Amino acid sequence: MSSCNDCIKFSLNIKDPLLEFLDISTGKYRNREAKFYHAIVHLDHCLNCGSDNIVHNGHLYSNVRYPALDASLPVFIRIAKERIICRNCQTNSMAQTELVDKYCCISNATKRKIIGSLTEDWSMKSIARQTSTSTNTVQRVLEKYSPSSFEDTDWLPEYLAFDEFRGVGRQLHFIAIDGHTHKIVKVLPTRLKKDIINYFKRFPITVRNKVKTVTMDLNYYYDIMAKELFPNAQVILDRFHIVQMLNRSFNSCRIQETKKHKKGSWEYNLLKYYWKLYLKPFDDLEKVKPCYQSRLKNTLTQEQIVADGLSLNNELENTYNLMQDISKALKYRDTKKLRSLIQSKDHVGNMMHTTLNTFKRNLHDILNAAKFDESNGCLEGTNRKIKQIERTAYGYANFNHLVTRIKLEEKDAIIKEKASDYYLAA
Ligand SMILES: [Zn+2]
Repeated sequence: MSSCNDCIKFSLNIKDPLLEFLDISTGKYRNREAKFYHAIVHLDHCLNCGSDNIVHNGHLYSNVRYPALDASLPVFIRIAKERIICRNCQTNSMAQTELVDKYCCISNATKRKIIGSLTEDWSMKSIARQTSTSTNTVQRVLEKYSPSSFEDTDWLPEYLAFDEFRGVGRQLHFIAIDGHTHKIVKVLPTRLKKDIINYFKRFPITVRNKVKTVTMDLNYYYDIMAKELFPNAQVILDRFHIVQMLNRSFNSCRIQETKKHKKGSWEYNLLKYYWKLYLKPFDDLEKVKPCYQSRLKNTLTQEQIVADGLSLNNELENTYNLMQDISKALKYRDTKKLRSLIQSKDHVGNMMHTTLNTFKRNLHDILNAAKFDESNGCLEGTNRKIKQIERTAYGYANFNHLVTRIKLEEKDAIIKEKASDYYLAA
């Protein structure tokens, strides 16, 4: 390696043989200090007919942005593209390079860098700053890589999980993910029944028949829909949501009881300040070592506190026992016990009564929660990640941008590879 051309090509990692570097300089670009590499692309034949009977017709200069090591000093490649007129077919041609697309002044290397950055948890503004481009450029790169281009309708995962999350314009979006690999299957702009049905109806029935389980939470028509869309699938209610409903029902009962007592009284403190202990699985409560409780002015174990609190009201105690027993039956996958608990005739709080009725209506799906290992736990992680993406960007105004970004940031090596291949090929 001897010449200036070879040196620059090596350091910038450019392999295009048609491109020749002539010089380097520093200068101003839009009042900012910038580094310029001067290059020329040669053309010695007509691009239309291939004839070499040509007349040179000057150059077209363009400043192409190139990734810089130091973002405070943007790098430009000032390319002179040779223009020719063909004597044979009378057409004009202009030299092209694989460094940059035709009519574009952002190098493909910069676009690759943007795609790479979009897979990280960075805002578009900071990506634009890092790559010395504008936010619009970053958005355009994101748009080019829309997730619909990688969709096919001949496959669905065997284990599906449905949920929703709040996104663009505080609207709720529907999300379906693969329960085993945790890959996102689809994000829909709404959670309307007809949209979800329309989407899944695009898959032939033979594909839909292969779905074995669908997990979801309780407050949905998803149940009816799942049975219509996936005739062979078992609908499983999410265990986390079941426990959450039970906890909520118990809390409402506990608060009602708390309000009966005078603020600051022993009973009031017992029910109000130790709420966490009631929700803790009974087996995990500290039963041996007592501890001084300043609110109660007494030395008690956790078990004693709970027992004292529950002794205040029979209804509260029943509600507590039901919550603990159902959670335990779910944990140990005891369907027989679960069935008998849901049919329980004990006198319980109002909200717990409603919850039990809901459980009775969906008994089959609740029992499935104890029968199968699948749950929506995987979705909670995904939803957490989506929240982070929205937070980094201070919210999204465009649903497609959000979905593309979610898909890009998903730890999905294949999609990432496809994205960079796309630009390598360009
Ligand atoms: Zn020609």
